[in-house]
Amino acid sequence: MTYLQDTLARLQQTSPAQTEFYQAVEEVLESLEPLLEKKPHYLKHSIIERMVEPERQIMFRVCWVDDKGEVQVNKGYRVEFSSTLGPYKGGLRFHPSVNASIIKFLGFEQVFKNALTGLLLGGGKGGSNFNPKGKSDSEIMRFCQAFMSELYRHIGPTTDVPAGDIGVGSREVGYLFGQYKKIKNSYDGVITGKSVANGGSLLRNEATGYGCAYFANYMLEAQNSGLEGKTCLVSGAGNVALHTIDKLYELGAIPVSCSDSSGTLYHADGIDVDQIRKIKSDGNASLKDYLSTHSKAKYVARDDNPKNGNAVWHYKGDLAFPCATQNELTEVDARALVEAGCVAVVEGANMPCTRKAVNTIVKAERLFAPGKAANAGGVATSQLEMAQHAGMQSWSEEKVDSKLQDIMHGIYTRSHQAAEEFGQPGNLLLGANIAGFRRVADAMIEQGVV
Ligand code: GLU
Repeated sequence: MTYLQDTLARLQQTSPAQTEFYQAVEEVLESLEPLLEKKPHYLKHSIIERMVEPERQIMFRVCWVDDKGEVQVNKGYRVEFSSTLGPYKGGLRFHPSVNASIIKFLGFEQVFKNALTGLLLGGGKGGSNFNPKGKSDSEIMRFCQAFMSELYRHIGPTTDVPAGDIGVGSREVGYLFGQYKKIKNSYDGVITGKSVANGGSLLRNEATGYGCAYFANYMLEAQNSGLEGKTCLVSGAGNVALHTIDKLYELGAIPVSCSDSSGTLYHADGIDVDQIRKIKSDGNASLKDYLSTHSKAKYVARDDNPKNGNAVWHYKGDLAFPCATQNELTEVDARALVEAGCVAVVEGANMPCTRKAVNTIVKAERLFAPGKAANAGGVATSQLEMAQHAGMQSWSEEKVDSKLQDIMHGIYTRSHQAAEEFGQPGNLLLGANIAGFRRVADAMIEQGVV
């Protein structure tokens, strides 16, 4: 696999210190081995060299004034990775951990994720190291306006269409859209995740979590099983985690955990998701406060996590849904899950499992649903929002939900069939990477060297 070593060595030289990006590239390239053996023409067209290099990367300064009247400066990013299959598409992340490597890995993943949906979507990602935590509503608005004052010149409804991600929900999207519209004097569908009143789509907010649970169910159904009665470990307590929990309940499963940066909550009877929403909407409350209404639940503070691991994965569960952030599920955690009899790991977040964790899960022959397949329901519903906005229409919840289910089923089928075609039935990681890559690569070849 010299193309893999060569590519990684070159990236380390030309894009230094981007560890998360190398990790994402390594995972995809490893999966491509059987495809490239059969179809070496992809190497001839230098498809890999072209695919690991973003078409355009924008870095900018974001200056804004806080409530004390002091000037704050943040970094802003938009990586326009690939426009092969459609406008650059992917969210904006506002989190203090954001840097060039994180945005680039997310943009790279997004290209394959969007290809897997079967829709006409290119891939991109953006964000800022701005920390929304503890900021007032007017600070959030001023930051979003400052961010869009630069971003607007790079985006457009058929050029680049951002959306939300960690730290960017419908409030932030509303402020971003408002500022774009003010500058451009045009009601363009230039960002998704908007409220319905602003040209958004019903169910866009729920779609990533719902899609993730649908995907898990399709995966189990193919094994003549299903989510009914299954115990599910879920991490995170944000949009993806809470909507995954909602849909898991609807499909008859019992989600028993959630977590945030302070610690993990476990409730064997099933997490009371309304109570979690109450806690999360109160800026001063902590997940630990759940114990005051549910005395049988357990809380483990972050400092008491197992060494090199996260307490949430050390309970017994039939399935695990990492829905928080990258590299949150380690090799130690994967071993604990396998030993406790977990049958499937479904990535709700982007790259939440480390490389060693993925290898442990796959080697133990447990089902593994990579994020680029399992969490694609969000971006897919963004495309449904783009279609509604462009046609100045608003579809019913039933219509959006049925399209979302069809898309998730299509993603499962494409990943499953590609895994079978290349002699590794059940290896959805391999199947998803090959199916996503092949769609982009074939279109790139048709479009010539551009
Ligand atoms: N941030 C989401 C993702 O990781 C959604 C992107 C979008 O809707 O454009 O896929």
